[in-house]
Amino acid sequence: MNTQLLPATDASLALAARLLADGQLVAFPTETVYGLGANALDEAAVRSIFAAKGRPADNPLIVHIHDRTQLTDICEVTESAVRLMDAFWPGPLTIILPRKETVPDVVTAGLDTVAVRMPAHPVALAMLRACKLPIAAPSANRSGKPSPTSAKHVFDDMNGRIPLILDGGESDVGLESTVISLAGEKPCILRPGGITKAMLEAVVGPVELAGSILRPLEKGEKALSPGMMYKHYSPDGQVTLIEGEESAVVEALRRLYAHAASEGHRACVMCFTEHVAALADCNPHDIGSKDDPSEVAHRLFATLRGLDDEKMDVIFSEVVPPEGVGLAVMNRLGRAAAFRTVRAEEVL
Ligand code: AMP
Ligand code: MG
Repeated sequence: MNTQLLPATDASLALAARLLADGQLVAFPTETVYGLGANALDEAAVRSIFAAKGRPADNPLIVHIHDRTQLTDICEVTESAVRLMDAFWPGPLTIILPRKETVPDVVTAGLDTVAVRMPAHPVALAMLRACKLPIAAPSANRSGKPSPTSAKHVFDDMNGRIPLILDGGESDVGLESTVISLAGEKPCILRPGGITKAMLEAVVGPVELAGSILRPLEKGEKALSPGMMYKHYSPDGQVTLIEGEESAVVEALRRLYAHAASEGHRACVMCFTEHVAALADCNPHDIGSKDDPSEVAHRLFATLRGLDDEKMDVIFSEVVPPEGVGLAVMNRLGRAAAFRTVRAEEVL
């Protein structure tokens, strides 16, 4: 299949709408990451998303809409849901609600709930308006790869597998949406993202955090959010996270890099902008300022993908405090590292 990569124009949006109505797949930009969309009500079309991504069938998709009236056939809309939609839609918040029968099982992986979101990206909204369909879309990467934050990332993974990629530039947030479930007794964050716990609590009161956000699933533990599998956001190389006091971390990164390089590995460090100069001899990859977790979020997946392009096999990374947007960063970085963490003081 020939994959077209087109800037968003009236003509390419009309083409996207035709393809989606015809049961085909279109990759499109959102403010979080790029999505791979199909008509959510067309079972065969949704199946082809799983095939194109190599995605396990037990990992449900998010239904994207541009107008809340589209929810009538999709889910029950609770009072708390309305409050969250008023506060954060369009935007990077996915809400899990009890589903309606109309939604094919393939979208929800057979669960009795469905995930819904109204994205804020102008190209995503224009595409959703043009096709007038609810669009089921996961991230537009091959399963197991970091999510794509540019049209080029999508092309690298999906060339030959889908007919159209709409190019809308770099994704602003850079991490997938916050997922909150309103289907249980208390609101619960299943996946942290750009909309933080504090922002949600200001609107709906106390919100719980799923236990497995900063650790691997225990044996036999069921993933509340099926995408949060043990090693999900991963580059090909082995990532190790270094924790500890700032100057100890910089010194540990220097020693670990030197050791790996001396053993013949293609090694690098992922460090804050403030430490790039001190780590100039350690193949530094700048992840953004230590005082700006949003910048780290914005850059993270592009950095991880770059490591694969460079065929890096050993990677040592700094960490951010797991608070606010930092919680979302550490949820992804922890999985990229398969939770391999070392205390800097133990290296020195
Ligand atoms: P992706 O956009 O690729 O990150 O995939 C969508 C993610 O949304 C899934 O991996 C799940 O973590 C989450 N999700 C979608 N539907 C549900 C649901 N009904 N219950 C819990 N989590 C869901
Ligand atoms: Mg994904």
